[in-house]
Amino acid sequence: MSLAEIEAVAARISSRPRQRAGVLERLLRRRRINPDTGCWEWTGCIFKTSGYGQINIEKKPTTVQRAMAHLVLGPSPLYACHACDNPLCFNPEHLFYGTALDNMRDAVRKGRTATGDRNGLHRRPELAARGERAGGARLTTEQVIEIRHLYRRGVYGLKRLARQFGTTDTNVLHIVRRDTWRHVP
Ligand SMILES: [Zn+2]
Repeated sequence: MSLAEIEAVAARISSRPRQRAGVLERLLRRRRINPDTGCWEWTGCIFKTSGYGQINIEKKPTTVQRAMAHLVLGPSPLYACHACDNPLCFNPEHLFYGTALDNMRDAVRKGRTATGDRNGLHRRPELAARGERAGGARLTTEQVIEIRHLYRRGVYGLKRLARQFGTTDTNVLHIVRRDTWRHVP
């Protein structure tokens, strides 16, 4: 099944309220919440090629992040991408709609593309949107450095930092664990 076909199926969800509720129920039934990251990890079937969670909508497979993004963010021709770099995650707070390039970066970061060193983003890393240029990011490079500095000194906890910088605990956790903003010293 092509990506376009998968997207076409997902695009039909929103026009049917009763089915929409059914899809959400099925998503939540296969959810395991990661206590460290807040990720909603899919415990059902997985697409072998991409490592993404798989759910059938009208008997056709789509990714769980796409199904969730559709329910929560509404329909979009763009790709459902992970801000948390966790391919199994479908926590709507960790999802954003991005371009095909965003989606490829998503996969490249997780080491799930076959292109390896031949991939253009490896040879020219400056082309890859990261940090504040990446979709959905609201913090600046300076703020990330500051967050890590404050956290290292042990004065501020995750919650306090999240409040101070106007972001979520999960976001701060990803930053201090260097799951995100890895290119920032
Ligand atoms: Zn996540």
